[in-house]
Amino acid sequence: MRQNPVLLLGWSIHSRFRYQPNRTYLGLHYRSKAVAYTGLLAVTKKVFLNMSQENSRPSSDMTKFRECFSKAKHIVVLTGAGVSAESGVPTFRGAGGLWRKWKAQELASPEAFASNPSLVWEFYHYRREVMSSKHPNPAHVAIAECEKRLKAQGRRVVVITQNIDELHKRAGSENILELHGNLFTTRCTKCGDVSVNKESPICPALAGKGEPSPNAVDAKIPVEKLPRCKKADCKGLLRPHVVWFGEGLDREVLRQTSEELDNCDLCLVVGTSSVVYPAAMFAPQVAFRGVPVAEFNIEETPATSSFG
Ligand SMILES: [Zn+2]
Repeated sequence: MRQNPVLLLGWSIHSRFRYQPNRTYLGLHYRSKAVAYTGLLAVTKKVFLNMSQENSRPSSDMTKFRECFSKAKHIVVLTGAGVSAESGVPTFRGAGGLWRKWKAQELASPEAFASNPSLVWEFYHYRREVMSSKHPNPAHVAIAECEKRLKAQGRRVVVITQNIDELHKRAGSENILELHGNLFTTRCTKCGDVSVNKESPICPALAGKGEPSPNAVDAKIPVEKLPRCKKADCKGLLRPHVVWFGEGLDREVLRQTSEELDNCDLCLVVGTSSVVYPAAMFAPQVAFRGVPVAEFNIEETPATSSFG
């Protein structure tokens, strides 16, 4: 029996809204208002202080949603950490989310890599290796199946994700924009070459290293034994091709993301909130055109809806 993993949390068709001071915000539901709010903030840089709290319950009208879904020809699915968390992928953020004694943001930065590339590589080596025991969950599968089914009807589904674990790809999604890169791609710090690398371990010196316990001893691997560029005339130090704290998103990925957002006629927000990055950065762009944004959450229990 196929369980439907995705629960509709709230959604609304955004009418073409304009900033109007001192007015209740057009009776939009709370989550939609939040989207509208951030969208308008971005556009008008004005703050609504007097938004009414009435109609603050999200809509879960599946009939309307299905109608909307059935008409959509180009669907953008924005996914965040919640989708990975359901597969047990550690993200090292929030309470209890430490690797040894560090949070992700302390290791996932150009400064950390410059000062201790061995430690940062141990961290990423661990994250790569741990993925061999993690698998796509029903949300990944539902999204991939949705893409496949709609493609056969000449309709397009694209996943825009902050997750770096490739679980969407493993579930069978084809149209994926990875905002933060992924764990299985490297970039040469010398020649800039970007390559897929699924080797395990990624280099002999990292074999058996990366133990996450706070008592683990740092491997202190000499820099020449860390992953190196495979181009014969280069041999530069490799780094994970992921976007670190303090770094900007890849321009080409951003360009493609923008194009998808400009052309889609439905946007689903899954495993994250429409007011939290990455959705908060992109959903307003869609909502501002009057395109529906539907927010989902993942539930362990058999849920109330599927993608139609
Ligand atoms: Zn190189």
